[in-house]
Amino acid sequence: MHELSLCEGVLQVLEDTARKQGFERINIVWLEIGALAGVELEAMRFSFEVIKKGTLADSARLEIIRLPGKAWCLPCGNNVEIEQRFDACPRCGSYQLQVTGGEELRVKELEVE
Ligand SMILES: [Zn+2]
Repeated sequence: MHELSLCEGVLQVLEDTARKQGFERINIVWLEIGALAGVELEAMRFSFEVIKKGTLADSARLEIIRLPGKAWCLPCGNNVEIEQRFDACPRCGSYQLQVTGGEELRVKELEVE
């Protein structure tokens, strides 16, 4: 389950930010996750619960913001939204899509004390 190591990365970001900004506790973490990031949201929530114990995020709530997959279609020239990496273009059915967004995994915002 690679969500566990992803969560460790997130926690690292939280601790670095806490050090820079001088807060000690986190109440809410907003995490942006793209549809094409290859992340299982349920596994992510579970991992966060495991990882946060005994850290500055011990009582923090995780809010996941799901971003759509975005691609540019070569044959029809449209920017389209896709669910998965190898989806066809919803406009023309072509598979010649260039992914332009939806691979994000980042901390968007924190509510801290
Ligand atoms: Zn197309």
